[in-house]
Amino acid sequence: MQIACLDLEGVLVPEIWINVARKTGIDALLATTRDVPDYDVLMTRRLRILDEHGLKIGDIEEVIESLGPLEGAAEFLDWLRSEFQVVILSDTFYEFAKPLMRQLGWPALFCHRLGIAPDGRVEAYHLRMPDQKREAVKRFHELKFQVIAAGDSYNDISMLAEADRGILFRPPQNVVDEFPQFPVATDYAGLREAFLEARADLE
Ligand SMILES: [Mg+2]
Repeated sequence: MQIACLDLEGVLVPEIWINVARKTGIDALLATTRDVPDYDVLMTRRLRILDEHGLKIGDIEEVIESLGPLEGAAEFLDWLRSEFQVVILSDTFYEFAKPLMRQLGWPALFCHRLGIAPDGRVEAYHLRMPDQKREAVKRFHELKFQVIAAGDSYNDISMLAEADRGILFRPPQNVVDEFPQFPVATDYAGLREAFLEARADLE
């Protein structure tokens, strides 16, 4: 029996922070871990910027609601759930993901959470644990599941490596070059094919 582990941003939904930056016109929110490698520095800065612009959780939810899943993502996920037990492993936050999960039919999601003040101010962030994607795959193995995982970027590599089979979906070229051991899918038909091939390989 296999569990399919999927990354969220870049696989089923757009990059959340980048699109919040675009929709709100706040360029300072465009920075990612590529620009600021220390995640704590990056997140602390993001929360400060939200504050400076008076953006509360409700405003951000509205922006995220308008993003919607990537085209074809909901259909792909429905298919995947008919073939595998599916768990989404993401480094986003439940509060941000919620409007998108609704549009995807509430799949199982393991991610982090925000600290929201009574007035809606985003005042803190809480990571579940370090490297939670990889740790989740390890726990599924302990439960005697095989794991096929798919993701698009650097924060997925430890999950893909820990899984029995790993797949890259629409990765940037530098990730393809650096990790040639993983097959690459560039659309949902290809991703579907890659999951079926991985399963056939494991059986
Ligand atoms: Mg991603």
